[in-house]
Amino acid sequence: MRQLYPAIALLVALAAAAGAWQALSGRPPKAPAAAETRQPAPRKAAVAKPAVEDKPAASTAAVPAVPATYRGQIIRKRVRYFPEKLLALTFDDGPSPTVTPRVLKALREHDARATFFVLGKCAKQWPELVRQAAQEGHAIGSHSYTHPAKTSPAEACSQLERTAGFIEAATGRKPQLFRPPYGITKGNLCDTALTQGYTGVLWTISSADSRPIGASVIAHNVIHTPNPGDIVLMHDAETHPATAAALPQILRELSAAGFRFVTLPELLQAWEQWQGGGKTTAPR
Ligand code: ZN
Repeated sequence: MRQLYPAIALLVALAAAAGAWQALSGRPPKAPAAAETRQPAPRKAAVAKPAVEDKPAASTAAVPAVPATYRGQIIRKRVRYFPEKLLALTFDDGPSPTVTPRVLKALREHDARATFFVLGKCAKQWPELVRQAAQEGHAIGSHSYTHPAKTSPAEACSQLERTAGFIEAATGRKPQLFRPPYGITKGNLCDTALTQGYTGVLWTISSADSRPIGASVIAHNVIHTPNPGDIVLMHDAETHPATAAALPQILRELSAAGFRFVTLPELLQAWEQWQGGGKTTAPR
């Protein structure tokens, strides 16, 4: 038995030395190590939660691409018999610091989306308005740089390039939609846009807001004419305060009538789906 004491003493000493070594070497003891491996779990959960909450906002803000079937095409009229009560409001000649914010506010208040055909020279001057419109879920299209009625082929390229550059700088996306100034589809500007793959978009309803008419007449022009799938021409230029004044009534009354306001790419997607569905499932 006596011989055992030194052995036990040696073992105790070794154990103590091992503990001291562990403490000195800073090797992490098991329990804290386990705690460390557990730590990332709550961190992950904390990151995942806002990401999930962000999803609805992100998806409503993302404007889809224009369907490939419409690229390089001009849209002059709505699809016949389209049944969904969707409308695409379009605002040309902006942005402007007085009218565009009022338009954006009205759209926000009615959870409506629209399409802005901006002039490159205005997008250059007011990029924050173009950015805000895109961030609020609206589509941004090109309406040329200076709104010319006629251009040379070289000037047409320049008008499109400069405008696309300022739109991309403000929104991070190149425009896919083009509205020809004055609705002129013959000539170098529109030809070049279509060749470059833009979708040229005219309108199927005019608010006639470029005429000297008041807000109530503009509102009447839009409210009393729409069919499902219509594209509405309006303006958010400095010279069109009556359009901003008319918009709340238009949104209120047409929402009450069951219409929803969507961007042009969304409307074109809906047209395409309905036409595709009509061809394959509903022979006439
Ligand atoms: Zn215009």
